[in-house]
Amino acid sequence: MKTPSAASVEMVRRLVGFDTTSRDPNLHLVDWVRAYLDGHGVRSELVHDETGKKANLFATIGPEDRPGLVLSGHTDVVPIDGQEWSTDAFSVVEKDGRLYGRGTCDMKSFVAVVLAKVPEIKAKVRATPVHLAFSYDEEVGCIGVRRMLDMVARRPVRPYACIVGEPTEMKVIRAHKGKLSIRAHVRGFECHSSLAPRGVNAIQYAAEFIAGLNRMGRRLATDGPFDHEFDIPFTTVHTGTIQGGTALNIVPKDCSFEFEFRHLPAHDPRALLAEAVAFARRELEPAMHAVTPDTGFRFEESSSFPGLATDEAAEVTTLCKAATGANGTSKVAFGTEAGLFEAAGIPTIVCGPGNIDQAHKPNEFIALEQVALCEDFLSRVLDSVARRA
Ligand SMILES: [Zn+2]
Repeated sequence: MKTPSAASVEMVRRLVGFDTTSRDPNLHLVDWVRAYLDGHGVRSELVHDETGKKANLFATIGPEDRPGLVLSGHTDVVPIDGQEWSTDAFSVVEKDGRLYGRGTCDMKSFVAVVLAKVPEIKAKVRATPVHLAFSYDEEVGCIGVRRMLDMVARRPVRPYACIVGEPTEMKVIRAHKGKLSIRAHVRGFECHSSLAPRGVNAIQYAAEFIAGLNRMGRRLATDGPFDHEFDIPFTTVHTGTIQGGTALNIVPKDCSFEFEFRHLPAHDPRALLAEAVAFARRELEPAMHAVTPDTGFRFEESSSFPGLATDEAAEVTTLCKAATGANGTSKVAFGTEAGLFEAAGIPTIVCGPGNIDQAHKPNEFIALEQVALCEDFLSRVLDSVARRA
C-alpha cells in the first residue's frame, strides 16, 4: 500500500483542526492558509462574503498574465449535529490506514495535499501558472465560489482549466448533474374542520401539487431524456420537507414544502419548474380562489447549481486521464462547484481522494492510500503543466 508524505498528513491534521462548519466563519482557517502561503512567498487574495466573516482564497503561483490551471476545493464542512462520532470530529485520529475526522474525505485532504505541495508547485511552474482556489459555503449550495468566479472573470486572463478535488477515489469525472431547489408555500383559508368546504385546505392542495411532481418524476424515469453514463440515467424530482397545520379540527391555512430537480447537464430544470407552476395555476388555484381570492401557491428558488459536461477531448480531460492512468472518464449524480467553473468558461474535471460514500457521515475518514494517490496525481499534473508552453 502506498503511504503519503508526513507533510500532507500533517496538513490534513491542521485543516481538520479548524471547525469550518458552513454556518460558522472560516476566517481562522483562511488566515492560517494565507500566512502559510506568505511564508512560501506566495501572495493570495481573499474574496469575502457580505458579512466579512467568511472568505474565498485565491492565489497564483507563476506568471500572473498567462492562463493557468486552477486547483480548487471548498473549506467548509457539514455539521456533526446529531451524529454519533467515536472520536473528536475536529481532531484527526489515524487508525488502520485511515485518517478519521470531519472533512477528511469532503474535502480537506485534497486542499491539504495541494498546500503541502506548494514548494513543489513553485519549483515546477514555468510559463503556465497554477492557481489555488479555496471557497466557503459549498455545502450550502455552492454559494461562496460564485464571488470568487466573479473576481476571476475581472482578471485580464482566464484560467485554461480547473481540477475540483471532490472525493472521486481519483477517478476522472467529466460530468455531473445540476440541481434546482424550490421552496413552496401554499396559503389556504382557515375554518373549523366541521365546515371544511368553506375553507381552503393548504395541506391538501400541497399534496395535490406534490402528487403532480411525483407523476412528472415517473414520466422522466420512463420517457427520459436519458444519459446512460449516469447511474441514475435521468432527471429526478424529489420533495424533501413539508410543514403545515396546527390542529386536526382546523382546516390548515399554511403549508410549506421544499422540492428539487437533479437534472442531466443538458436538461433544463426551469422548464420542468414552469410546467409544475402552470399545473398549480391552472388545475389547483381556480378552486382555491373560488372560496376566497387571497389563497394560492408561492414559489421561490432556494438554490441551484449547473450540471457539468466537459468534453471527453478537452485538454483538462486528457491531462487528468494521463495523470491518473485512467483510460476512461465517468459521470456522477452528486453536484460540485465544477459546473460553475465550466459556466465561467473554464473547462473542469472533478478528481480527488476519498470515496463520496464516506462524506457527510459520522466517523468520516479518508484512506491514507488515497492521500498518497492524490500526491502522485498532482505531481504528474504539475509535470505536464511545466511542459506546457
Ligand atoms: Zn465537498
